[in-house]
Amino acid sequence: MSPDAPSADELQANPVLKAAFAGAWADSFVDDNDLRHEEGGFIYFNPTTNSVVVRRVLPGGQDSLDLSYPPEVPGAFLVATYHTHPNFPNRIWTAEPSPEDRRVASGSGVPWFVVSHVGIFWTGPERRVGGLTGKPGYPI
Ligand SMILES: [Zn+2]
Repeated sequence: MSPDAPSADELQANPVLKAAFAGAWADSFVDDNDLRHEEGGFIYFNPTTNSVVVRRVLPGGQDSLDLSYPPEVPGAFLVATYHTHPNFPNRIWTAEPSPEDRRVASGSGVPWFVVSHVGIFWTGPERRVGGLTGKPGYPI
């Protein structure tokens, strides 16, 4: 029996992640119509040190971010991803996870956080599927 990964709610309460979410939001230039873009990255948990590790990815586009390739972090397992939704909601944009976010998160085996101007959302499984074992990146 492998140890459970931290749940999305447990992760969201973690101060390291609160800082990461705030930093990604600040770097998304949400107040600039021309420069606003998605930021985000990967969230890992190291069961030996009981610590959360964050790896940012390169800045994304206005409504896109490549979260396809989580880098390996020694001793740690991918337990979530996060990205910003810097566009204020209108006919096109939503603050909440998009249908695409929901679909990809469900298939990835880890929760996906979305950082928006109305708060933090998550979608996908409640915690990494299968626990802290197997492939260190996406479990499925
Ligand atoms: Zn999204």
